[in-house]
Amino acid sequence: MNLERATQALKKYFGYDTFRPMQAEIIESLYQRRDVLVLMPTGGGKSLCYQIPAVTLEGVCIVVSPLIALMRDQVRALRNNGIAAAALHSNLTHEQERTVEQYALDGRLKLLYVSPEKLVSEPFQQLLRRLKVSLFAIDEAHCISQWGHDFRPEYTQLKALKRHFPAVPFIALTATADKTTRKDITAQLDLADPALFVASFNRPNLSLSVEPAIKRIERIIDFIKSRPRTSGIIYTLSRKQAEQTAERLQKVGIKAEYYHAGMAAQARDRVQENFITDRTPIICATIAFGMGIDKPNVRWVIHYNLPKNIEGYYQEIGRAGRDGLPSDTILFYSLGDVKVLRDFALDSGQVKLQLAKLERMQEYADARICRRKILLAYFGDFLEKDCGNCDVCKNPPRYIEGTILAQKALSALMRTDQKVGMGMLIDILRGSRNQELLKRGYDKIKTFGAGKDLNSENWTRYILQILHLGLIEIAYDEGSVLKVTEKGKEVLFSNKTVQLVQVEADKIEKSPAQKIARVKAEKPTPQLLRQYFTESLFENLIEFRQMLAEREGIAPYMVVGDATLQALSNELPATLEEVAKITGFSQIKIQKYGRLFLEMLAESISLQDADTQKALFPSHILSYRYYAAGSNLEQIAQIRGYKVGTIAQHFIKCKEENHLNIDYNDFITPQEFETISRVMLEINDPIRLAPTFEHFAGKYDYDKIRFARALMIERGIWQQQQGEESV
Ligand code: ADP
Ligand code: ZN
Repeated sequence: MNLERATQALKKYFGYDTFRPMQAEIIESLYQRRDVLVLMPTGGGKSLCYQIPAVTLEGVCIVVSPLIALMRDQVRALRNNGIAAAALHSNLTHEQERTVEQYALDGRLKLLYVSPEKLVSEPFQQLLRRLKVSLFAIDEAHCISQWGHDFRPEYTQLKALKRHFPAVPFIALTATADKTTRKDITAQLDLADPALFVASFNRPNLSLSVEPAIKRIERIIDFIKSRPRTSGIIYTLSRKQAEQTAERLQKVGIKAEYYHAGMAAQARDRVQENFITDRTPIICATIAFGMGIDKPNVRWVIHYNLPKNIEGYYQEIGRAGRDGLPSDTILFYSLGDVKVLRDFALDSGQVKLQLAKLERMQEYADARICRRKILLAYFGDFLEKDCGNCDVCKNPPRYIEGTILAQKALSALMRTDQKVGMGMLIDILRGSRNQELLKRGYDKIKTFGAGKDLNSENWTRYILQILHLGLIEIAYDEGSVLKVTEKGKEVLFSNKTVQLVQVEADKIEKSPAQKIARVKAEKPTPQLLRQYFTESLFENLIEFRQMLAEREGIAPYMVVGDATLQALSNELPATLEEVAKITGFSQIKIQKYGRLFLEMLAESISLQDADTQKALFPSHILSYRYYAAGSNLEQIAQIRGYKVGTIAQHFIKCKEENHLNIDYNDFITPQEFETISRVMLEINDPIRLAPTFEHFAGKYDYDKIRFARALMIERGIWQQQQGEESV
C-alpha cells in the first residue's frame, strides 16, 4: 500500500487535498505494519490516521473507544461520507448487535467501533478470530494508564490483545502528553517498538484573552451578538451560575441551555444532543460538559470564572476550533473567584499542590508577555516567537507613569482603615453614592471621588496591577479586604514611583449585518461590498446547512464543516466541477449536496443589488453563472435587465477567456449553424455581421449570427478558409 492511495482516499472519502503534519508519516508506518503511538492535541486530526488505513487496507479496522456518544457520532459522520462503519456497545438491542456482527462477518465493514468491555468479552473475542482485522486503533489511549487523568479499569484488559493478534498493527492515540503516561501506554498495550509521533500542542487558531470580570454578562451578550449563529461554550464555576447565565442569555433572546452534573442523565443527553446538532448553539456549563463531544465547529469558549489550573483550562479552551478555523477564547478574571478557588484548594487534601496550580493559573491571567508562550511552557512545549494571537501580543503593554494613580487608590484604602474590598474601593474612588458606602461614611473621606476620571472597569484593571506589583494584598481571612503592604507604603509615603500598563477597553466587532448597514450608508468600495457579501453569505450557509441536517437527522457538521462553508462563500463555485475542488466535499457529498449548495449560492447572488453583483464578478461572468445554473439566454437577459444581444456577447467573451462549459449548441442549432456559416464564408467578412444579417433578410437575428461566428472561430473554420485561400 502506498501513500498515493491514501491521498486519493483522503480526497474521495473526506474531500481534503493534503494531509496535516504527521498524518502521512503515521499512515505510512501503519502500511509498513509498525505499531504507532500518536500524541496530538485535540483537533490535530487523529481520527484520519486510522480511518484512511481502514478504508484503503483489506479487512476491518477495530476502533476501541471509551464513550458511546463519541462512537455513535463518528460512525454517523463516516457513513455520511460513504464509509461502511458500525459500533458495538452496551446500548444496542440484541438484534442490532447481531446485525452488526453479521455485517462484520460478511466483510462489509471497514471500521468497527467497540467499547473496551465489549472488546474483551468472550463472544466478541470469538467473533474477532473469524474476522480479517486490518488494524487495531486504541482511541483515548491514556485511559489505560493509572498515571493519566482519566484512568478506566476496562482499558487494562486490552493488554491481551497484542498477544492474540501479533501480526496486526496497533495505533494508540491520545491528546495527553506527559511522559509517564506515554511510557505506560506502550508497556500496557505491549506495543512492539512503536513509532512515536508527538505533535506540537500549540493550537494557533485559538485566540487567547483575559479580561477583568466586570459586567461579564453584558460583555458576553455583546460578544455573542457580534458572532451570530456561532456555537460556543461558557464554563462557570458553579451549577447555579451555569443555570443563571443560561437564563440571562435566554432573556435577551439568545438560544442557550445549561448543563451540569446535577442534572438527570436524560436531561444531560438531551442538552448534549442539542448542542451537537446546533439546535442549541450555546451551552453554559460546569466543567462536567465537554468530554465525549467532538463537535468541530465550536467557535468560542468563555470562562466565566478563573479555572482551577492550567491543565483544565487548556483542555476546555481546546474544545474550540477543532476544525482548525480561527476561534476565540476569553477568560474572565476576578479576585472573588480566586478566593473561592483558594477555599477549594484548602479543602482539597492536596493543599500545597492545588494552591501551586492555582498560582500558576493566576500568573497566566496576570501575564504581560505572550500568553501562549506561558501555556506551552507549562506543557514543556516551547514557542520561539510571540504568537500574535493573544491579547498581550495584539495590544502590547504600554507603560505609563502610574504613581499618582496608585497613590489615590492606596490613600483611599488607608482612609477606610483598610476595611474594604475591591468593589467598595472603586466606588469610593469614583465617588459613587451607594447606600452601603454612605452608611459607612466613606463619602466624607478626602479621596472620595478622586478617581472620577476613570470608569470602574479601568479602575479594576489598575487595582489588579497594583495588587500584582505587591503594593496591596488580599486578606483572605478578613473577608477578602485589601491591605496596603510595606511596598505600598513606600509608594504612598516615600514617593517611590510606579509604572503601570495603560488599560483600554476592548472594542467589540460588529456583526456582518450591522457592518453592511453601516457600509451601505457610506458608499462602499467594491472590495468592501464583496467582503460583506461573503460574510453574510457564510451566515446564511450555516442556516442552510442546519436545514439539510435536520432533514437527515444528523449534526450540521456532518453535512459539511465550517471550513467548507467558508470556502463556498469565498470561492462561489458555479458548477459541480468547481464544487469538487472545495475542501470537505467528498465524492458522496458532492452527489448529495452539490446541486443544493449551487442553487443556494445562485439564489443568494441573484438577490444582491447591482452594485454588489458587480463587485462580485465581471458582468460576463455573472451571465455565465446564470447559464451554468440552467437559465437560457432570454431568461438571463430578463433577470439581469439587459438585451439578449448583450448576454450573447457575454458568452462569447467567456468562451474567448476559456471559461469552460459553454456549449454554443445551447444557442444555435446545428442546422442554423450550417446555414449561417456557409453564407458567412461566402461573404468572407469576419468583422461585420450586417452583410450576413441582410442576406437572410432578418430571418436570423444578430445573436444567432454572432454565435455562428464565435463557433466558426472556435472550430478554426476561418483559419482553414484563409489557409485554403493562400494555397
Ligand atoms: P482529533 O481526534 O485529533 O481531535 P479529528 O480527527 O476529530 O481530531 O480532526 C479534527 C478536524 O480536522 C475534523 O473536522 C477533521 O475532519 C479535520 N481534519 C483532519 N485531517 C484533516 C486534513 N488532512 N485536512 C483537512 N481537515 C482535516
Ligand atoms: Zn501571544
